[in-house]
Amino acid sequence: MRASNRIQRLFASKKIALSQIFVLFVFLLFSAAPMSTSAMGMGDSRGPGGETDTQSGKAGQSSEQAGNQDNASPSEAQDSQSGTSDNGEYRDRREHLVQDVLTQKGIQDQTVLEAMMAVRRHEFVPEQRRDSSYVDRSLPIGHGQTISQPYIVAFMTEKLGLEEDDRVLEVGTGSGYQAAVLAKIVKDVYSIEIIEGLHESAEARLRRLGYTNIHLRQGDGYFGWPEQAPFDAVIVTAAAGHIPPPLVEQLKAGGRIIIPIGGTYEVQSLVLVEKHGPEDVTTDHLLPVRFVPMTGQAQKGKAQEKQTSEGKKDSSS
Ligand code: SAM
Repeated sequence: MRASNRIQRLFASKKIALSQIFVLFVFLLFSAAPMSTSAMGMGDSRGPGGETDTQSGKAGQSSEQAGNQDNASPSEAQDSQSGTSDNGEYRDRREHLVQDVLTQKGIQDQTVLEAMMAVRRHEFVPEQRRDSSYVDRSLPIGHGQTISQPYIVAFMTEKLGLEEDDRVLEVGTGSGYQAAVLAKIVKDVYSIEIIEGLHESAEARLRRLGYTNIHLRQGDGYFGWPEQAPFDAVIVTAAAGHIPPPLVEQLKAGGRIIIPIGGTYEVQSLVLVEKHGPEDVTTDHLLPVRFVPMTGQAQKGKAQEKQTSEGKKDSSS
């Protein structure tokens, strides 16, 4: 009796176990389906969201926003630090910037576009900002200074109407980027930077990148570079209150200067100066811009002007 009872109990417990396994199996079967359905449901519900993204216009967004969404791979970022690699995304982004953004904004000179394509802007941008290298905007480079917006670099270069054999003076080396673009077009570039730290880092960078036709000097570019004058063209990348007379003197007849004119907190004007003869100079206001101020003599002159006008006010009152 005891034995048959035990068998009955065993059978009963197995029945329970079997029924438990069956219930579990059925539960898994039915619970799996709703899970996958809900995932699809989420996908479906994302559909309109995705559409909203497209409508809000990744294509319609400014190039800045589009550029910020891309991320360089770590290996690329490392390569770019050595100054040797230009593969993958950086190249694609530069191509987009040059072929789409700059041309749409009106840059037409093929030589300028080729130079903008040839110079790897990410090499001139601090490591922590490199992801934004091919966004069309200026970026900080330290010492309170900036690397200029690519469109402005291309625009200023285009307006100089450069020839292969030209010798160009730049005031405001900064990162060395503008000088590098010029160096792809003309025979020799002479660039002056007033901040020693920037002069030194630009020098090291341009040497590392293999530019041999860029000549750098640390000092106040207000006075130009008389030993190397005359120049076919002059580009000033910091805003001054007036056109420095030494730059006009050091310009060849037939040459051009492009310079932002205006105060720090004012809307400045990008001015094209054309020297037709020693005493024959014309100016043309091209574009409202915002540049960092030209320091050194340009500001001393301003302070003197201010003192003089205050003196005049005092004496007249
Ligand atoms: N062209 C630079 C580039 O491609 O990175 C950007 C130049 S940043 C907008 C202006 C530069 O002009 C700064 O580096 C600043 O120190 C320099 N600068 C200002 N006043 C100057 C002066 N009197 N002589 C030479 N450089 C000057």
